[in-house]
Amino acid sequence: MTNSKRVLIVGGGTFGLSTAYHLAKSGYTNVTVLDKGAYLPSDASAGNDLNKIIRAEYEDPFYAELALDAIQQWQRNPLFAPYYHQVGYLLATSPAAPEKAKKSLAKALSSISRHPAWAGQITPLETREDIRAVAPAFDGPMKWRGYFNRLAGYAHAADALRATYAVCCELGIEFRLGDAVKSLTWDGDRCVGASTASGRFYGADVVVVTMGGAAASLIPSLAPQVTAKAWSVAHVQLTPAEAAKLRGIPVTYARDLGFFFEPDPRTNLLKMCPSGAGITNYEGGNVSLPPADSSYIPAHDEAAMRALLRETLPALADRPLVNQHMCWVADTRDSEYIIDFVPGKKGVIVATGDSGHGYKMLPVAGRWIKKVIEEGAQAEARWRWKEVSGGPEDISWRVGNLYDLKEESKKIVSKL
Ligand SMILES: Cc1cc2nc3c(=O)[nH]c(=O)nc-3n(C[C@H](O)[C@H](O)[C@H](O)COP(=O)(O)OP(=O)(O)OC[C@H]3O[C@@H](n4cnc5c(N)ncnc54)[C@H](O)[C@@H]3O)c2cc1C
Repeated sequence: MTNSKRVLIVGGGTFGLSTAYHLAKSGYTNVTVLDKGAYLPSDASAGNDLNKIIRAEYEDPFYAELALDAIQQWQRNPLFAPYYHQVGYLLATSPAAPEKAKKSLAKALSSISRHPAWAGQITPLETREDIRAVAPAFDGPMKWRGYFNRLAGYAHAADALRATYAVCCELGIEFRLGDAVKSLTWDGDRCVGASTASGRFYGADVVVVTMGGAAASLIPSLAPQVTAKAWSVAHVQLTPAEAAKLRGIPVTYARDLGFFFEPDPRTNLLKMCPSGAGITNYEGGNVSLPPADSSYIPAHDEAAMRALLRETLPALADRPLVNQHMCWVADTRDSEYIIDFVPGKKGVIVATGDSGHGYKMLPVAGRWIKKVIEEGAQAEARWRWKEVSGGPEDISWRVGNLYDLKEESKKIVSKL
């Protein structure tokens, strides 16, 4: 059965492409995706990355179930399966980790440890030898404690987005790229479309805003509940021989230091991200938005990544870092997504608040967004638009300090 409702998706990143895919698969014939990037995945998409962790442990079992559903799609759906590598997930804390990091790890583990899907899939890690049993290539000191989860791994992130984009094109989704959306167009309280920087207008019955960290630039009333925050990304360029030695290593995450992945087979780049509570950018006032230039990382993040390497692969700890950049997401105080109509308005849905844990949901997120389009409301209370007030935040699974870019010294603005 076909559906000719005109759906305009603003932002062709992880949530936008997933939405387009699910709509197209369900017979929608009039779907257009607008993105400011000249190609997809766009440089501004948080999902445009070598790889992303695909894991289901969450402090909250609700998300554990959703992520398990996503993992099953990563394993079985021929669109996504070529990009999923189930190398396992080594999650640990170092002896210096704050109590908060240890508690978060314990809660995450409890969300999967009694779940039948993980029967026989989890091994506790108490000693360096335990760690070397699952990652023999690691020869650092690693006085860590944690566990190894076999039902997890990583996805080749940009490649999977590219494949989703290609399938959407085959299924008849229209893409208009290289032109940023600047405003929504209203007929009273009804949104009737969006206009771009070049002055083009796109009409729609429903507009779905999936602009990630930039969402509040189009819908400023989102700002109290969505904060653009960045985390750093950097890589070490390995030789083919070095990469070969690390083939098949698990995704390795010391909650208080950061995480890294198996080297990319095409480029031999080993990708790393440091832990932290994020970096904001309040340069324009009281709304944090991604800046024009994200092609550098703060010095303290470089130090954290080198500390992580010193613990695991010390021979790499002093190597140059390449392709360094900050990656921006839409963070919420409770880490819940927001997938809802804008209150008091008709015809516009936001699907944002990914809170840095949205990529793994690429195969399934569009299904949730399609449901809201079709039902005309968000049935899941936790994903509704929320009126929130300010004050210090303390996100339970985040370890470290929150910084703001406007502090030239990158000085700490909030200690968590
Ligand atoms: C360092 C880092 C590591 C991460 N690791 C993981 C991980 O391991 N696993 C995981 O599940 N998640 C991870 N994430 C989170 C994940 O990347 C995001 O949750 C996800 O990509 C968010 O999807 P999105 O569609 O909301 O936003 P995005 O993917 O960022 O897409 C937003 C899109 O909107 C477009 N856009 C912006 N402004 C405009 C405009 N004005 N007009 C038109 N288009 C516009 C952009 O070009 C972009 O394509 C990580 C995030 C970061 C920062």
